[in-house]
Amino acid sequence: MTKFIGMVLKLTWRLLRLVLWLLGLVFRLTIGLAWRQTLGRSTVYVRRDWNDRGMGRVRWADLHDPLWDTVSGGAQVENPLPLLHGYVWCDKVRGKFGHSCAHGPGPHNIKVCMLREDNSNRIWRRLLDLAGPDRRLESN
Ligand SMILES: [Zn+2]
Repeated sequence: MTKFIGMVLKLTWRLLRLVLWLLGLVFRLTIGLAWRQTLGRSTVYVRRDWNDRGMGRVRWADLHDPLWDTVSGGAQVENPLPLLHGYVWCDKVRGKFGHSCAHGPGPHNIKVCMLREDNSNRIWRRLLDLAGPDRRLESN
């Protein structure tokens, strides 16, 4: 009889683990996917350089390889502090933005700069997750 109860408990435990695993899977496939899609559609505000007055908008999904760097795209200005940069195809950028396709047929893979004060907390945290912790505080 004890043996039987033990077996039932073991089976119940296995079943419970299976159910939890399935729930996790369903969660990842539904809410996780919806979350990624929402994030992919959310807007990131970018500049050609930190002191560029024009600001462009790109979708999260169109922004590639965020990294901390001291050299801007375009004019390759050296910044005193590392800034968060990323790459985007110029035809994906909307808004008044410091890039003209004058130097050759596009679209061009351009380097853009993201500023903390231009973007939402959610986007900023997500960028830091990919590029590494804030390096602006590291200088000196
Ligand atoms: Zn271009």
